[in-house]
Amino acid sequence: MKPPLVVGNWKMHGTESEAAMLARQIRKGLKQIEGVEIVLAPPFTALSAVHKAIRGSSLRLGAQDVHWETEGAFTGEISPRMLREAGCGFAIIGHSERRRLFNESDVTVARKVFSALHAGLTPILCVGETWQERKRGMTARVIRRQLRAALKGLGKSAIEKLDIAYEPVWAIGTGRNATPSQANEVHRWIREFLRNLAGNQAAMRCRILYGGSVRPENAGELASAPEINGLLVGGASLKAKDFLSIIRSFVPESR
Ligand code: PEP
Repeated sequence: MKPPLVVGNWKMHGTESEAAMLARQIRKGLKQIEGVEIVLAPPFTALSAVHKAIRGSSLRLGAQDVHWETEGAFTGEISPRMLREAGCGFAIIGHSERRRLFNESDVTVARKVFSALHAGLTPILCVGETWQERKRGMTARVIRRQLRAALKGLGKSAIEKLDIAYEPVWAIGTGRNATPSQANEVHRWIREFLRNLAGNQAAMRCRILYGGSVRPENAGELASAPEINGLLVGGASLKAKDFLSIIRSFVPESR
């Protein structure tokens, strides 16, 4: 099993210098933390500064999005190859803000996953239901639809390279997190889906992260849920102290 993964999604926060400072603060606080893989996902404009700030540490760099083409007339977009050269090892794909605010479809998400893998980036594929869908008992159906579309045509060896983030839309940035048992249940469905698609080994190699209003106060109980292999953190990743405290919930002796 890969180590737990904690990702800081900084969204559209931080100039180059602010992002580099935050990365340095996190790096400094990391000294006593082992056994957790940590990815920082700053805005595109700060990738290079953060890459410099984390060089030589165990921190990894991630992008918040990626385009599916290698190059071409796609104004405003960034290709997987560009991200690799900027030092990224990961790319968040299909975040609900991208799906909702920028009309990303399941098909677009699938293209991005395919191209990211092809370029050697680890996709962190986001899936999640809205509150309306949960209320109507549609959570499992929505998650399976998103997974089926995003992973279409991928073989076992590709599937085991991915990480997946379960991010209920109603929990993102709302201060209202899923309970550990709600999250654990959906994570079990995701694992089951992967097992049916690619076999047990590939399913067990995929880390399934939870994301949605994770804070230092709730990270410990989320981290203890058996199917939660990591966390995708938005707001709380913008404060080094809070982010470090969240990371520590995966270090057994710090719990
Ligand atoms: C996110 O942006 O992926 C996220 C989970 O945000 P927040 O932690 O702020 O809810």
